[in-house]
Amino acid sequence: MPDHSTLSHLECSREGTRHDADVVQGTSPAGAPLLARYDLDRARSSVTPAEIAGRPPDLWRYHELLPVRDPAQVVTMGEGMTPLLPLPRAGARLGLPRLLMKDEGLIPTGAFKARGAAVGVSRAAELGVRAVAMPTNGNAGAAWACYAARAGLGALIAMPVDAPEITRREVVVSGAELYLVDGLIGDAGRLVADAVARRSGYQDTSTLREPYRLEGKKTMGYEIAEQLGWRAPDVILYPTGGGVGIIAIHKALQEMRELGWLTGPMPRLVAVQAAGCAPIVDAFDAGLRTSEAPADPHTVAFGITVPKALGDFLVLDAVYATGGTAVAVTDDELLAAQHALARDEGTWICPEGAACVAAAGRLRESGWLDGGDEVVVLNTGSGLLYPDTVVAEPPVLAKDGIIP
Ligand SMILES: *Cc1c(COP(=O)(O)O)cnc(C)c1O
Repeated sequence: MPDHSTLSHLECSREGTRHDADVVQGTSPAGAPLLARYDLDRARSSVTPAEIAGRPPDLWRYHELLPVRDPAQVVTMGEGMTPLLPLPRAGARLGLPRLLMKDEGLIPTGAFKARGAAVGVSRAAELGVRAVAMPTNGNAGAAWACYAARAGLGALIAMPVDAPEITRREVVVSGAELYLVDGLIGDAGRLVADAVARRSGYQDTSTLREPYRLEGKKTMGYEIAEQLGWRAPDVILYPTGGGVGIIAIHKALQEMRELGWLTGPMPRLVAVQAAGCAPIVDAFDAGLRTSEAPADPHTVAFGITVPKALGDFLVLDAVYATGGTAVAVTDDELLAAQHALARDEGTWICPEGAACVAAAGRLRESGWLDGGDEVVVLNTGSGLLYPDTVVAEPPVLAKDGIIP
């Protein structure tokens, strides 16, 4: 069978120890996330960017750098190659004429979690897992439930009662088992770990507790580079919750440099959080390498309500190593940015993505961003998943059957 992947092993992100990639794995013995490593020399000699350009427009175009070995195991709904949109009006308003948005609103399930789910579920199925189980703030659970259904796997999802209601419906409609938890994502995680310990064939696929979700999210980094003609932007802003996306983009950038597909300086990576839950920003401001959970975490940007991320040290590494920064914006600021962007550009983005737009404005004002910088904001999902962020008032009735 031709090996679709150049995956070689897993590596402990804290201690660098080497682990078998071809059995089901959780975290490393040190309790840290495991990172997938590839035979990049083999990848470099088996594929070129020019060949990739001719492949179908989904994230599997980078399959040599993804963990699924047998193409028949790929579970896909066409995810990936989302638009990298110029934002000329918003950019002019913010003083950033080279502002771009990687728009993940246009992906199955409506949020970029589909990338992690596609790759994570495919690899789990390949390794013989029968069902996946995870805590979620909503979007990840919805995506994993949908991809598990497509793969014919079971799914057990636990989410806070406050998570966006639409994601409950996505979990239910795809036939997964759903539990609501009166608490935060960490509370849901404890219940899931307990259930998995009692069920055979279930894998705990919590954030960074399995290695392959990160690999799916990594493709955002590959796509940004490919869409710019194999070139990196100056800055990438990312709405950071569990931090998988920013860690993954950093990993993609490192791989592409090692492959020789990218040259020049790394883009500066910016971790954006909501003021109501900003452990990474607090740690960055204090010059620390790990974070502390804030008291009473809350924000409308539910996908980034993660008080204590398992991979916090990797997020902070990505920021420090690239000369980036970390910024918190208030819910008022991010909602104002969301509305302004829809008026300027016609795109209704999720509050998490809007946090990045607000942060870009803030960083331009402070002078951290220069007017000449090419800046990519990540919009991680569609505004349609968050209907309550917009109030359509007053209702406009066509009175007496006439529109003036
Ligand atoms: C999960 C989520 C995030 C945060 O993602 P991480 O990669 O875990 O930091 C951001 N935005 C949305 C819409 C999400 O669902």
